[in-house]
Amino acid sequence: MTHPSDRIDTELDSRAKPQLESFLRLVARAPRSLLMLDFDGTLAPFRKDRKKAVPYPGVVSTLQNILGIGKTRVVIISGRDVRETVPLLSIKPHPEVWGLHGLQRLKADGSIELWELDDSTVEGLAAAEDWLRSQNLLHAVELKSGSIAVHWRGLAESEAQAMRDRVMLGWTDIAQRFGLGLMDFDGGVEIRSPKANKGTAVRTILSEMDPEVPSAYLGDDNTDEDAFKAINGRGLSILARPEWRPTAAQIWLRPPEELLELLAGWLRACRERDDSSAGLNLSER
Ligand SMILES: [Mg+2]
Repeated sequence: MTHPSDRIDTELDSRAKPQLESFLRLVARAPRSLLMLDFDGTLAPFRKDRKKAVPYPGVVSTLQNILGIGKTRVVIISGRDVRETVPLLSIKPHPEVWGLHGLQRLKADGSIELWELDDSTVEGLAAAEDWLRSQNLLHAVELKSGSIAVHWRGLAESEAQAMRDRVMLGWTDIAQRFGLGLMDFDGGVEIRSPKANKGTAVRTILSEMDPEVPSAYLGDDNTDEDAFKAINGRGLSILARPEWRPTAAQIWLRPPEELLELLAGWLRACRERDDSSAGLNLSER
């Protein structure tokens, strides 16, 4: 395996960089670490065709190397169905993946767990789908277990706003009637089972780990705010997007350069531990 080049950082703001460096020193010292990552917008740039959203160059190989060392539990937490995320990721063997914003979990053994959907949720989702059909909107729809998403990525801002207004007109009442949640995400809106979100996923994962394990979560979207809040106090929350926005995340970085830099730093931190335990003195940082 080749060592990732030591990049000279010019982008990260002056407060974020020392915070990241001290966090990575914790990763280097710890026997275990936890890296939780959103997929779309964080690891992969948005594409109008959702099925073509593959990670930025360099992301897969670095994650593969981090997984290969075996000290970091890598978890992808996405709004997609896990069966879509795994082929787009193309990491083999696949890491742990959560889907549907926390409603679904693909375990390392290949089994998929799904939050049980009660009758009211099932009826409400059927009503939401019927309404979309009556409006001739099914072309813009992603039907998932436990949720339905309407996408408007690629539309002009005014058209997207008109689409959102129209969908909310039909869905707000259905959500109230059946006790469903409505969730805005970057490029669409989703009606869903209120059982779980990315915050519940993060809390579940953290509950399975020793509290001392250095942990980080990276995400870009409104739906990642639940996850940021869930990890704050236990680890590092990182907003990964080109533009800053108000957020519960502790630091902000811009993909892909700063994302790749963080992943390369994480990999170096894992290897430092490896190298020091092998009695080698590699302190080139
Ligand atoms: Mg995202």
